[in-house]
Parts: sequence; C-alpha cells; structure tokens
Amino acid sequence: MPFDTTSRFVPLSAPEISGNEWKYVRECLDSGWVSSSGPLVERFERAVAEAVTTAHAVATVNGTAALHVALLGAGVEPEDEVIVPALSFVATANAVRYCGAHPVFVDVDAATWGIDASKVADFLDRECAWDGQRLTDRTTGRRVRALLPVHLLGHPVDADPLLTAARRYGLAVIEDACEALGAHYRDRAVGRLGDAGCFSFNGNKVVTAGGGGVVVTDDEALARRVRHLTLQAREPGGEYVHDAVGFNYRLTNVCAAVGLAQIERLAEFLKRKRRIAERYRRSFVDFPAVQCMPVAPWASPSHWLFTIRLRGPASGTSADLVARLQEAGIEARRLWRPLHLLPMYYEARRGRLDEAEAVYQDAVSLPSSVGLAPGDQDHVIDHVLRFVSEALRR
Ligand SMILES: *Cc1c(COP(=O)(O)O)cnc(C)c1O
Repeated sequence: MPFDTTSRFVPLSAPEISGNEWKYVRECLDSGWVSSSGPLVERFERAVAEAVTTAHAVATVNGTAALHVALLGAGVEPEDEVIVPALSFVATANAVRYCGAHPVFVDVDAATWGIDASKVADFLDRECAWDGQRLTDRTTGRRVRALLPVHLLGHPVDADPLLTAARRYGLAVIEDACEALGAHYRDRAVGRLGDAGCFSFNGNKVVTAGGGGVVVTDDEALARRVRHLTLQAREPGGEYVHDAVGFNYRLTNVCAAVGLAQIERLAEFLKRKRRIAERYRRSFVDFPAVQCMPVAPWASPSHWLFTIRLRGPASGTSADLVARLQEAGIEARRLWRPLHLLPMYYEARRGRLDEAEAVYQDAVSLPSSVGLAPGDQDHVIDHVLRFVSEALRR
C-alpha cells in the first residue's frame, strides 16, 4: 500500500495537551501570580510527591537544575567524584561539573541499559580505599561522594545492589529519573529509591510543564536545603539576606499550571505508552534483526521512548535508518553519544565502556507520543521492517 509521505509527519515524542491545562493557566493568569511564588507551584509539588509517594517535592526550572541542587543538597562538593553511567543525556554529567565535582563513567548492563551495579561495586571495592569514614579513589586521590544512576528511557536501574554498595561506603544516591516518572522498581516508585530523585517536565518527557523539574525525597533536611538553594539562598524574613551562593531555580506558576494538569493524567498516559511499546514488540518479534529494548522481570517502565537495537546484518546502520525514516516523515533518533566520547569528558575517569558503546552503536528510538495513532505506528513499523529486510538482502 503506498503511503502519502508528503503530508504525514510522525513526531518522536509530542506532548498531549487536552486536559485542564487551559483552565489552570487561565486561573494562574487571572490571579496575577505568574512568577515563582503562587499556589500552583505548591499544588504541582504536592501532586508529584503523591505520584511518587515521597514526603517532599521541590519544583525547579528544569530537570538539569533539579540534578544540580539535588547533588549539592546531598553534600557533593568541589573535587569530589560522582559515579555516572556512560550512556545518558549530557545533563547527567554536566550537573556533576556544575558542583565542581567530577563524573566517573561506569558501563551499562545489557539487561537494563542502566548503570551496571556489579561494575560499580568493582570500582568501589577495587579502585577505592575506605577508612571507615571516607572513600577515596586511589588513582586520583579524590573523595567519592555519590552515585547518580539514570533510569534510561524510563526503564529502572537494578537499584538494590547499587543501594547496598552505596550504604557500605556511605555514598549518597541521587536518581536521575528525568525520563521515568511513574516507573516502578519492584513495588517502589523510581525517584524514592535513593536519597533523592530528579524528574524533568520538558516538552518531550512523559508529562510536561513546558519546562520544569522536581526533586523528590523523604529526607526533610535535604528537601529544605534544596528548596533554599532554588530560592537564591534567601533567609526567611522581609529582608534580602542570603547565607550561601544560591540559584534562581524555582519553577514559575505558569509552568506549574501546565504541569499540574498533565500530572492529573499520568496514569492514563502511562497506560497508553505501555500499549504503544507492546504493539512495537509484537510487530518486531519475528525479526531478529530488530531487537527491542530489554524489560527486566522486576521492572515496570514508563516507556518514555521505545528503542530498538539493530542486529546481525542490520548492525551499524542506525544513522541510515534514522535518515530513511526522516524521508518518510518519521522522526526517529539515535541514542545520545556516550558521555566519554564528548570533548569535555575525554579526560574523565572511566573503566571499560563496551556495552555503552555497543548499545549506542545500534540503537534507534522510535515515535512514542502518548497520542500516537495506530495508523501512524503501522507506518513506522512498516518502514523499519522494509529497511531491515533490505539490509538483510545486502
Ligand atoms: C531530560 C533529561 C534531563 C534534563 O532535563 P531538562 O528538564 O531537559 O533539563 C536530565 N537527564 C536525563 C536522563 C534526561 O533525559
């Protein structure tokens, strides 16, 4: 069947704005509270805390800022080291650098595409020295302070062994859950597995606020520090007295209005994203050249971006597939180039990163919008299968 490729455009991850967004934004504008104080920011924070079942939530201007202040709030200081997976969006490592600390890149595992807990334990046990108080990287002499695992593409990391290793050495665990709102690890919501979790409400994430972020935690003192830092570290009272170098990181009430309306629909969005993922899986099951991203038995992912890995003769053609889909009006993309292959991190401390490079080499993320129509999904599936069957014939 010929497809009309001139008019059709299938985006990678478009927001669905069809709930109370207009109503809450109008309320916000009518109230005159448009900036970073206002009742909607607090309602938005409460809604996120409820969704993740944490005691506290602090809204920020975006997910990157959430990571930055969560690391500071957890005690990361200049010249510390923070353990980060090599395969992630650049913001994960940048947030560490904003603190003046240094990322240590660890490989991902094939079962989750998240940080490999056994390689983290290897690094801590073999490369570091523990004096009962302080964990020191023997090569650099720096203090290792925190783990920053990423729930990649909405799939939770295998958290229990990471938490065990962190506890052994007194390390903080901050989750980069920016892609994983609503995902669960065993029966626990991601974002509340470690000391604090960070979410993004960027336009292409599971739910959006236009732009926004949230730090969630059960630790009241940590929540207080984080909130203080997002408000320019201003002391309470009517005067402008500040006790630290803070940041202008608080979310605006206008964005919170959008975010609040979106959060109300989280359960429905997650269900629709799961159906999209299942449909891709069913369609690709008979094609070994198209390997679907893994789902661990204990995982309940957010299914943020459904991602395939090209295998066999199709291996090495991910850029070609993205280009081919583009010609057909389909927005697909490769994964982020692993962080140690970006110029500002060439010199970063790292182990072997074979799996991160292998996944990156062959992965392509496919359209996964909540509102993806079955006909548009068929269009995507058809083009992927045509592409791999040509690759097999070559
Ligand atoms: C989106 C994202 C971020 C940053 O969130 P922003 O809201 O865009 O600043 C951080 N880490 C990961 C893994 C992300 O996907």
